[in-house]
This record gives sequence, C-alpha cells and structure tokens, in this order.
Amino acid sequence: MAASFTLTSVRLADRSGLWDLTVTDGYVQAITVAGAYLSPHPQVDGRHRLLVPGFVDIHVHLDKAFQLTSLERAHGSAGSLEQAIESTALLRQSLDLAVIEHNADRALRMMVAGGTVAARVHVEITGASDPAAVGMHLGLAERHPEIVLELTAFAQHGTTSDATIVRRMEQAMSAGCRVVAGCPYADPEPLRHLDQVIDLARSWDAPIDLHLDLSDRPEDLLIEEVAPRIERAGLQGRAAVGHMTTLTALAPERVRELAAVIRGAGIAVVAMPTTDLFLSGRAQDVAPTRGVTRIQELVDAGVSVALASNNHENAFTPVAMPSLTHAGWLASLTNYMSTSARQLALLDAITTVPRSLLTGPVPGIALGDVVGGALFDVESPVDLIRSAARPTDLVSAAHGVTSATTTRAENAHVG
Ligand SMILES: [Zn+2]
Repeated sequence: MAASFTLTSVRLADRSGLWDLTVTDGYVQAITVAGAYLSPHPQVDGRHRLLVPGFVDIHVHLDKAFQLTSLERAHGSAGSLEQAIESTALLRQSLDLAVIEHNADRALRMMVAGGTVAARVHVEITGASDPAAVGMHLGLAERHPEIVLELTAFAQHGTTSDATIVRRMEQAMSAGCRVVAGCPYADPEPLRHLDQVIDLARSWDAPIDLHLDLSDRPEDLLIEEVAPRIERAGLQGRAAVGHMTTLTALAPERVRELAAVIRGAGIAVVAMPTTDLFLSGRAQDVAPTRGVTRIQELVDAGVSVALASNNHENAFTPVAMPSLTHAGWLASLTNYMSTSARQLALLDAITTVPRSLLTGPVPGIALGDVVGGALFDVESPVDLIRSAARPTDLVSAAHGVTSATTTRAENAHVG
C-alpha cells in the first residue's frame, strides 16, 4: 500500500525558499510554499534539507556483487580486464544462485540507502549461467518496491562462440528483460557479435546497451563500427555504450571527431569511474593511463553522458559505491571538472540523463511522479558532487520518509 504524507519545509534545486511536498497514495500531488496548504496527511518535517529526485544507476551488475572474499578464497586474480572476466567466470561455477542472490540483495540495499531509485541491471547470460537468474532479479525487484529495476539480457562472453547464447537471450527477453546488452570486446568475432545483438534489439523493439572500448589501445576502438549500425537499425536515442575509456588514448581532435559521430548516432555514453580507473593502465609500468572517458569533451559536443556504479567489490572493481554521488566526485577529479557548471553536469549524469535512458517511468519529485527522492544536509546541489554526499533520509511511495542510516544499518547486517 502506497504512502500518503506531507514532507514539510524542504529546499528544492530549481527554486528558492522552503516548500511542502504532498504525496497521496504514493504520487506527488502538490508542491506548495511551506505552510501555505494544510494537507490531511501526516506531516514529516524536512528540516530545511535539500530534497532531490532519486538517482538513476544506468549500469550495474548485481549478479557479480560482493565477490572479493570468495575470489580471494579461490585465489582468483583481480588484475587486467581479461583476468577479471576469467576469474569471475571460474568463480561462477562454484557459486549457487542463493549466494548470488544474497549478494545482489546486499548491493541493492546499499544502492537504495545511497539514494538510488532506479537502475539498469545487467543479467549475465552465458552457457554456464543459471536460466533462473532472470527470475531471481525479478524477485529482487518485487521485494524492493522502493527501486525500479530495468533488466538487460547481457551476453558477457559474446554470442558467436556458443550458438545457445542468442536463444538464451531471447528466453531472458521473454522472461522480463527489457534491454539487449552486448560485449563485443569479449567476443572472438566482435563485429558479428555486434550484428547479432543489434538484430536482437530490433526484433524485440528494445534499447541496446553495449560494453564498449574498455581499452587503452587506440587500435581496439569499435565505436566507429557501432555508430553506423545503430543508425541503420533505427536505434538512435535508444543506444548506450559503457566505458569508452579508449577515448583517453586519442588526440583531442580525434576525440572531437568521434564525439560528433557518437552524438550524430544518438548514442549515450556511460562512464564508470571506479572500474575504469581500476582496469586501465595495466600494461604500462611508467605513468600508467588512468582512464575515465573524456566526459568534458563529450558533454561539450552535446553527447548524453551518464555515470554509473557498474560493480561493487569484485574482480572488476575492488570497492563498493555507497552513493552515486561518489561517481560524480571521482569524475570531477579524473576529468578536471572543477567549476559549478561542470560539476552540475556530473549531477545531471546521475539524474536527468540516465532517467531519460530508461524505458519506463522513474520515481521522482515532480508533480504526478511516483515519489522517489532523497534528503541531503548540503547547502546547494553542487555540494552533492563536491562532498560525495550521502542522503540522510529516503522518500519513497512504498515506505514514506525513512532514515537512510537505518537502511544502511540493515544493510550492514546482511551478509
Ligand atoms: Zn558492466
């Protein structure tokens, strides 16, 4: 049953003064000057904190979360991208779905506590993956109504070397996945893989999401193969590419050229600063590349850029991300983004941009939204990025206004 309440005396990013937010049956019904309207609902004092719409994590793997301890036990290595893929695949053989679900649930609680209200979740489809994995993710979504999950059918190891993968992806799409996701660099035939996943997206009339160009080597670049295919398939505006760290290995004029291609094809770029930093520069002994894609240049060229958490404590990323504000904080450092305007673009990258990429409605704090937001003890919106702020309270249709600290504490007891 959805909550009805009035959250009083909050500050909002797009207007000055103090405001009351009235929520009826889970929907934002009114936003009024503080004290101007007496609603019949129970009141919760916002204590002059900043209320923002919840964050959207547009790229996350719940089925690989919190694996570091198991990896260490299995002597798995956490080094290059190739080693990460290999050790995770090996570990997968010994983990049953209940353990994966337990860790996924822990990750989801952490994301909720950090103010995330929606996420695009990659469900790994391989020859060895359990067909019940889609159902597991759907079950998680049902148990956590405070966060919307959009599932992808994700071919982690490609599609061309195992004829059953495309069929398994089709099954995943009919079981509830909404997006087709590919990984050309992990496939022995990247271009054939691209064609297969794009065909699949077209036949399901679904958005496409690619792990792409996660390399420091310019010769690995595939975006120029991807863009024309996206245009031919009519998938402009429904395509996202994650990582794109190879752009850091290119000269500025080449980056500008490619940014125009990316924008022209209506492709959004998703940077994942923790993973991208951890996996880049592995082959260089001196002054290793610290590769997070060229966010400033892409934003300046009009490309939609989002930031995402991707992984939490596994072979690809040895740390967790308590709130998406940390992705903005890190991107501000790695990408030399220090002005308010630049840092607010990083806030857009965890709010408005990824919100526009999801297929379904996302909870928010605008009139008519299913309510989904977070309260912060910060002076202004840019401080969310500058201080990697964590919310003090969460606002949801399912639970009303709840303490983020309590949610975090509950999380700590899981696992
Ligand atoms: Zn990923």
